Amino acid sequence: MTVSLWQDRSAEATHRFDFVVVGAGISGASAAYWLASRGERVALLDAGGVAAGASGKSAGMLLLGTADPYSRVVDLYGRERAREVWAFTAECRALLAREVLGGGELDRELRLVRRGTVSASVSAHEQLELARSGALLAEDGFPHETLDAAAMREAFGSDVFLSGLRDPSAMTVDPARLTRRVVALAQARGAELFEHHELFGLEADADGAQLLTSRARFEAEMVLLCANAYSPLLHPHFEDKVYPARGQMLATEPLAERVVPWGVYCDFGYEYFWQLDSGEVVAGGWRQHAQDAEKGYREETTSAIQDGVWDFMQRAVPALRGKRVTHRWAGVMGFSGDGLPFVGELPGKPRVKYLAGHTGHGFGFGLLAAKKLVELALDGAPIGWLGAGRLARK
Ligand SMILES: Cc1cc2nc3c(=O)[nH]c(=O)nc-3n(C[C@H](O)[C@H](O)[C@H](O)COP(=O)(O)OP(=O)(O)OC[C@H]3O[C@@H](n4cnc5c(N)ncnc54)[C@H](O)[C@@H]3O)c2cc1C
Repeated sequence: MTVSLWQDRSAEATHRFDFVVVGAGISGASAAYWLASRGERVALLDAGGVAAGASGKSAGMLLLGTADPYSRVVDLYGRERAREVWAFTAECRALLAREVLGGGELDRELRLVRRGTVSASVSAHEQLELARSGALLAEDGFPHETLDAAAMREAFGSDVFLSGLRDPSAMTVDPARLTRRVVALAQARGAELFEHHELFGLEADADGAQLLTSRARFEAEMVLLCANAYSPLLHPHFEDKVYPARGQMLATEPLAERVVPWGVYCDFGYEYFWQLDSGEVVAGGWRQHAQDAEKGYREETTSAIQDGVWDFMQRAVPALRGKRVTHRWAGVMGFSGDGLPFVGELPGKPRVKYLAGHTGHGFGFGLLAAKKLVELALDGAPIGWLGAGRLARK
């Protein structure tokens, strides 16, 4: 989107805050929550509404680690980095449980399912990687349950899966409701939400920052950009750091019986699905079969991907055959060059900091990454591997 001269109503109001957070997805909502918890006066603004971006289109799987299995991350970045990244997501999940999800009283409202997830193999190559990952994860203190082909057949009623690595503590959730809950917690601590305020101008110097949005002007001590995939549209600094890629999903009518016992992440994360307690099965993926077409910002579904996902689902879970698909949607993810999110500041503008590059795992990283961003902004705290400097060094 862009803001024309005719749509620019920024002169109608000026708001002053300590912090302005741009983007009301899980990252920006979390940043606003942490800032408000520290007593800062914070405005959270979004071009659309809360969870208008990927956070409202996500599959909502609260997974450990990255899209790549542990074994591959160990090969690519070394054992220590892999352990750090997995520990980060484990800490993020614990934080989410403590600060946001509660002890069960909100499960229904958040459509939260606490039955765990399974990384499943659909090829001999992936089976090998999962076996290696299982051994390495156990050694590094992230124990998983190993499932063989027979156990997977019993669970899903098909021969599609050769093995599984089950994380019993993983959860799946309605990602839009989760994001709205984080925003509500931030608001309860004093944060103010400005929906339908699209940012189109940003100036910052040693004294502060000024932001022009479609409906108001903002002045702030500091700005936190949390626009993930949309970051390159906000500033050219992100053009060689964040790559937009579309993800497509579908949902079925509610099924009376449970046909998907756990959330599933398979084919190296390219396919994923789970079943809500109300019976619907949500599934997405197939992007690897049309990589070029799935690049960019167009939030459209295509029959090539939708048919691919649905064919796969009917093979993987035969009980879905003949069931009706009720919803189809697309969302835009922000990929980074190395598959990990990063935190930094705009060159020469220490008053504008950012978090981006979640690479399809923003619900695994977001709450804690936003905490690190806030600690960097308020305390100058070190951010370790999360620092954007690691991308420049590559
Ligand atoms: C189909 C799909 C499935 C996924 N499955 C999973 C999963 O199972 N688990 C997982 O962890 N992650 C998953 N993801 C990824 C996850 O959804 C994202 O990593 C996460 O939502 C990113 O959150 P965010 O807040 O950083 O960005 P977003 O949610 O994209 O938020 C960015 C916000 O910035 C706003 N914005 C942009 N430009 C402007 C502007 N100029 N002015 C004001 N506001 C602006 C947008 O409106 C948007 O609301 C999936 C994503 C998709 C698309």
